[in-house]
Amino acid sequence: MSRFWSRLTHELHPYVPGEQPRMTDLVKLNTNESPFGPSPRALEAIRGEAADTLRLYPDPQATALRAALAAYHQVRPEQVFVGNGSDEVLAHAFAALLKHDAPLLFPDITYSFYPVYCRLFGIGYETVPLDQAMRIRIADYRRPAGAVIIPNPNAPTGIALSRNEIATLLEQHPDAPVVIDEAYVDFGAETAIPLVASHPNLLVVQTMSKSRALAGLRIGYAIGDADLIEALTRVKDSFNSYPLGRPAQAGAIASLEDEAWFQQSGVRVIESRERLRRGLARLGFDILPSSANFVFARHPAHQGARLAAELRQRAVIVRHFSASRIADHLRITVGTNEQIDRLLSALLEMTGSNST
Ligand code: PMP
Repeated sequence: MSRFWSRLTHELHPYVPGEQPRMTDLVKLNTNESPFGPSPRALEAIRGEAADTLRLYPDPQATALRAALAAYHQVRPEQVFVGNGSDEVLAHAFAALLKHDAPLLFPDITYSFYPVYCRLFGIGYETVPLDQAMRIRIADYRRPAGAVIIPNPNAPTGIALSRNEIATLLEQHPDAPVVIDEAYVDFGAETAIPLVASHPNLLVVQTMSKSRALAGLRIGYAIGDADLIEALTRVKDSFNSYPLGRPAQAGAIASLEDEAWFQQSGVRVIESRERLRRGLARLGFDILPSSANFVFARHPAHQGARLAAELRQRAVIVRHFSASRIADHLRITVGTNEQIDRLLSALLEMTGSNST
């Protein structure tokens, strides 16, 4: 608190990212990073940019990367926007598209950055409760809204909606922008990108942080009608013209070119998720059906905060949220088999149960 702060700064409630501890030999399952490294081709392209050309600014429009994303997703380059991680893309979307007289709608349990952006940009919002099974019910969004934002799969539940359900949501709100945050879509959900052609109000946001194992490079992007993309570009160019450096642009393009790596690592994460799910079920956990690279689970006999703290003492870090509806849940990133085994043996010691 300082008398030098603006009023806005006093009123902010910043997002708290999962910790990035410096301890070694840690089983780090708290921020949904990929347990497998990025495509070797991406690494090579990044190294190639560690050159004299770094004295020059990068392409402010990221023309080559946007063209590569357009080809990959079968849209036009004018329908693609890129930013410094999907968090930045989302921030621009909140400022450019989600502030209207009627409230912005999003789920009560969802990515906790959304209310933070609302405060930063002065956006009025209403949350829509998940149902008893922690699912998003599209019918509950049939109410007046200036805009809607939903992650698919939702975070931190991991539960996905079908493309048909997204289409229904779009049809409920033909005059409002609808943002679908697909950070985790590549782990088993259906992307809404094919709906962009017929729905000028749809913006789909994706990231290379999870399924392309490039969280440290910071690459996010949005796909939508050229009119929505122009709005994002106007905000971006009023904020930072060069959000992606040369290594990031080159690494992202090379990652898109390595489809075999992308497919293989996706399959490995999905297989490991199943192994994690089975192991947790044996220990008596209730696990939500996940289409993401994490699972959301609770133990009927153990408090979430205590489990998270005890795991930490055993050098295993998972994510715990204090919101009352989910305070007994743990969000556990899918790790390598070795990490999963260490997590499960720690939990076995702590819960003392192996039910089947
Ligand atoms: N959306 C959701 C739902 C997320 O969980 C995350 C990761 N915290 C992001 C967006 C942002 O990811 P990034 O900025 O790394 O692209």
